[in-house]
Amino acid sequence: MANRDSAYFWEGAALGELRIQRCNACGALRHPPGPACPGCGALDRGHLVASGLGTVFSYVVHRHPPIPGKELPLVIALIDLDEGVRMVGEVSGVEPEEMAIGMRLRVDFARVDDELTLPFWRRV
Ligand SMILES: [Zn+2]
Repeated sequence: MANRDSAYFWEGAALGELRIQRCNACGALRHPPGPACPGCGALDRGHLVASGLGTVFSYVVHRHPPIPGKELPLVIALIDLDEGVRMVGEVSGVEPEEMAIGMRLRVDFARVDDELTLPFWRRV
C-alpha cells in the first residue's frame, strides 16, 4: 500500500494527520500523490497537514461483493477537502439512506496494526 511516493501519507495517518502532497516549487497541492508536479513538472515535493474537513462530492454504497473484515453496506465517498483536493474515503456512522452530496465530513483514523493506520470519515 505504501510506496516511496505515498509513504508521507501513511506516516501521517499513523500520527493522526491527514497529509496532502505539495509541490515545493510552485506550492500546488495534489492527491493522489505522484513523483512530479502536474502543474510545473518539479520533482521537489513536500506536504502539508490538512484541516481534516471536507464535503461529499459523490458517493457509492457498496453492498456486494463481500470485503474481508468489512461489514456491509459500506459507504465510500469522494470528498472535496477544504484545501481543494479530492480524496476517496470510507464514511463511518452514516446510514446509506442518510448520505447526501454536500454533507460535511471530518477525518478520523483507525489503527489496524503497527504498520497501518487508515483514515476514515465521520459526519461533522
Ligand atoms: Zn509545481
